[in-house]
Amino acid sequence: MNLFLKLRDDFGMSCLLIAHDLAIVRQAAQRVYVMYLGRVMEEGESGALYSQPAHPYTQALLSAVPSTNPVEERERQRIILKGDVPSPVNRPTGCRFRTRCPAVQSVCETSPPVNSLSESNLASCHFAGRIKAGILQEYDVRQVG
Ligand code: SF4
Repeated sequence: MNLFLKLRDDFGMSCLLIAHDLAIVRQAAQRVYVMYLGRVMEEGESGALYSQPAHPYTQALLSAVPSTNPVEERERQRIILKGDVPSPVNRPTGCRFRTRCPAVQSVCETSPPVNSLSESNLASCHFAGRIKAGILQEYDVRQVG
């Protein structure tokens, strides 16, 4: 990873990193695209996306990342997603995340617009603005510590 970062910085290279480990993505990426079933759920500048995600899937992924701070780790609450990822050949209609989303509503049977939340943050969710603002967050969570 250090070599990767050095190449990026020394030669000004643009690199595409595909990973499931969000700690590594945070260390390496300036811009992050969160994908689910082949579609971008959220994209944004790394710092903003990690500190204030606007999509329930991004929130769930980030809640699964352990903290290196023992106090934060004891207080960490993990968002529990129900069910399994649907088959890519039989994707849900409307929002692709709706069969597992903790914030799903009936309107989610229609495809959500891509909401521009700031110059550097887009999210494909009917409620992205409210989720980013901290509203609509009564999710099923599990205390980790
Ligand atoms: S559009 Fe609905 S189902 Fe999709 S992420 Fe937003 S709240 Fe969840």
